[in-house]
Amino acid sequence: MLIKPEDFIAKIPEIIKGKSQLSAVFTSYNSIQGYRGQVDTGKQGLSVYSASETENGHRERVSEWSSPSQMEMRASICQQNVEQCLLGEHPEVVLHENLFFMIYLGLSGFSEATHFTESLRDDFPDAYIATLTCDCGLKDKFPSLQNLKKHGFVDEAIVTGQCGGSMEMARILEALIEAWPN
Ligand SMILES: [Zn+2]
Repeated sequence: MLIKPEDFIAKIPEIIKGKSQLSAVFTSYNSIQGYRGQVDTGKQGLSVYSASETENGHRERVSEWSSPSQMEMRASICQQNVEQCLLGEHPEVVLHENLFFMIYLGLSGFSEATHFTESLRDDFPDAYIATLTCDCGLKDKFPSLQNLKKHGFVDEAIVTGQCGGSMEMARILEALIEAWPN
């Protein structure tokens, strides 16, 4: 049901197979190490956007220390980032027919991010949607993750031991670019 990042990375060629264009949006209320905004993929037909709060890792664990209200705010920033992309408010984001979303679900702000993921599926029934979750409080997160997967809100639910997911999100982003054929 839940898979490891390396297993997800191994599936990327299968996910992108037969697609000549893809727009990928990676979103986190933490950082995505080294990436913020439009990513220069150097690949034809592949657009990648990092809708993260910060570029560098220095705030990567902030979420686990913040108050619930701060976390709700951060989760909503993450949501707004994605909405702005989809509404064309970031003109540098090229929206192709095939959409791919990678959403980080941390322990704090978990339910907000989960609801956001569900609403994304309602809006984009054909998109590929995956979530990355750290394993803090996994027992509490598990029923929600199971629900997301079971009801098709996500195509994959990935679990990492890396809290904050900053480097793991970047690793998956890089693997997608690497796997893109041209
Ligand atoms: Zn964590």
